[in-house]
Amino acid sequence: MALIVQKYGGTSMGSLERIENVCNRVASYIRQGHQVVVAVSAMSGETNRLLDLAKGINAKGSKREFDQILATGEQVSIGLLALALEKAGLRARSYTGPQIAIKTDDAFGKARIQSIDTEKLLADCRAGIVPVVAGFQGIAPDGSTATLGRGGSDTTAVALASALKADECQIYTDVDGVYTTDPRVEPKARRLEKITFEEMLELASLGSKVLQIRSVEFAGKYKVPLRVLSSFKDGDGTLITLEEHMNLEDPLISGIAFSRDEAQITVTDVPDRPGIAAAILGPVGDANIEVDMIVQNIGADGATDFTFTVNRGDYERALEITRGVASELNARAVSGAADMAKVSLVGVGMRNHAGVASQMFKALAAAGINIRMVSTSEIKISVVVDEMYLELAVRTLHKAFGLENPPAAA
Ligand code: ASP
Ligand code: MG
Repeated sequence: MALIVQKYGGTSMGSLERIENVCNRVASYIRQGHQVVVAVSAMSGETNRLLDLAKGINAKGSKREFDQILATGEQVSIGLLALALEKAGLRARSYTGPQIAIKTDDAFGKARIQSIDTEKLLADCRAGIVPVVAGFQGIAPDGSTATLGRGGSDTTAVALASALKADECQIYTDVDGVYTTDPRVEPKARRLEKITFEEMLELASLGSKVLQIRSVEFAGKYKVPLRVLSSFKDGDGTLITLEEHMNLEDPLISGIAFSRDEAQITVTDVPDRPGIAAAILGPVGDANIEVDMIVQNIGADGATDFTFTVNRGDYERALEITRGVASELNARAVSGAADMAKVSLVGVGMRNHAGVASQMFKALAAAGINIRMVSTSEIKISVVVDEMYLELAVRTLHKAFGLENPPAAA
């Protein structure tokens, strides 16, 4: 018998029929003798609808009132699921965040969970009652309802699992796991059986939006075994776990992440002296523009080139700011391109292996893809390429690193 926290997202809760489907899944775990605590999201589209209502009346209104409104979506979901469980002959009880003292700070709209009172939940479990908890919400120090930020139900589930010392936190969603890359770009993408928290964070922050990033950080920090599964199709999903639970024969690369909306800015012939990087990037940062990759050449003849990337949405503004700074610095020219993309290999296996980068560069060269920029970390190598080559680059690397379905024999 295990204690399992199951989280069902908006799509899984999207209609009465789907809620009955969730109910059947919960019931089957209970009938196998497990204890289950459920966390749910609002029905799909509901949080957006509520947000539009709030904005419609006062878009600049206080965040506390926004949260008061947004939290109601989950309150409807918990009641509906509890009713469905009752109808199926189970005992169930729904709870809003405040009702089980999910205590947060007072950062309305992006509150952080500080503690959870597990007493009621554990007592319910012992009594054979299924607690159904509203995701995405808690109670601020002043007693107000606070929400955790979009996608926050994942974090609720992980926090519950951690507080309850659950054996597993299962996140049910509309995909059946984490894939080696986006199957829309590479149809041969394969579901991963296991992945580490660190890899998942890299894949999530690079655009594979399966889980809220904060929930993965939380799960990694508190060592909560996390499993992503489909609520529409049976299967084992993907287990997100600690590196020590990975096998040595696991592949070097776990996945390929990419993002399309990159832009690149280059300043040529800037003086090669202390303070130049700060002089260029300072004003960009002051304008709240996030800089991703940065490359500076070795200076020759007292001058150097400086290149960085920003999100495409910030390109025009960043270019204008950089032009201003560059003329003050007497740089020769500022150039840029807004149609860039970033492709990244992610894998803890590369920690102990040399040669991953050169294998990557060879594969891209053979496909005739020019690499504009490179950056590396312990478990990731990213390259910037022209956006028109993005799909080709992803497929080329997917094949070169043996990620296709079925897995290549070792
Ligand atoms: N309902 C909230 C949202 O749409 C929270 C969640 O779904 O996790 O962002
Ligand atoms: Mg979600």
